[in-house]
Amino acid sequence: MYDFGTLLDDDRYSGIFLSFTSNDYARLALEQLRWPGGAVCCPVCGSDRPIYRQNRKGVAGYYRCPAPHTDKSPKGIGRPLVFTVRTGTIMERSHVPLSTWAYCLAIGAFAKANHPKRTLALSASKLALQIDVNPKTAASILRSLVSVRPVPS
Ligand SMILES: [Zn+2]
Repeated sequence: MYDFGTLLDDDRYSGIFLSFTSNDYARLALEQLRWPGGAVCCPVCGSDRPIYRQNRKGVAGYYRCPAPHTDKSPKGIGRPLVFTVRTGTIMERSHVPLSTWAYCLAIGAFAKANHPKRTLALSASKLALQIDVNPKTAASILRSLVSVRPVPS
C-alpha cells in the first residue's frame, strides 16, 4: 500500500497542504507526490503503459490501466482497472474530501515533527471540530494516520 509515508515524515509539506481549499488542487498535489513528473503507474499491476485520464460524472482524476486485472472481477475475467490517487492508500475507502485529507496529512506531519516521540498527539474530538466531520470519522482518520509508516529509504 502506498501510504504517503514520506509526507507524514517530512513537515515541509505541512504549509502547502494546509492551504488547500479546493479538492482539485489537493488531488493534483497528491498525484504529484505519488507519481512525480506525471509518471502515473497502476497501483495493482505496476504497469506504466499509457493510462488515460477519465472523468466520472464530471469528477476528474480517474485513470485507466488497460492491462487485464482479475482480482476485482467476480467471473475472474481480466478487465481494465480504473483507479484514482486514493486507490491503495489510507484514503481509499473514505468519503472524506481530498482537501480534508490533505489537511489531515499536513497536521499529522506537523504533529509528528513536533512531538518528542514523533507520534501523533491529536485527539479525535479536536480533529473533528477542525475538519467538520463527526468524531467517529475523525477517529478513523487518526487511526489511518497512525498506521502510516515512513517509506524506507
Ligand atoms: Zn494495472
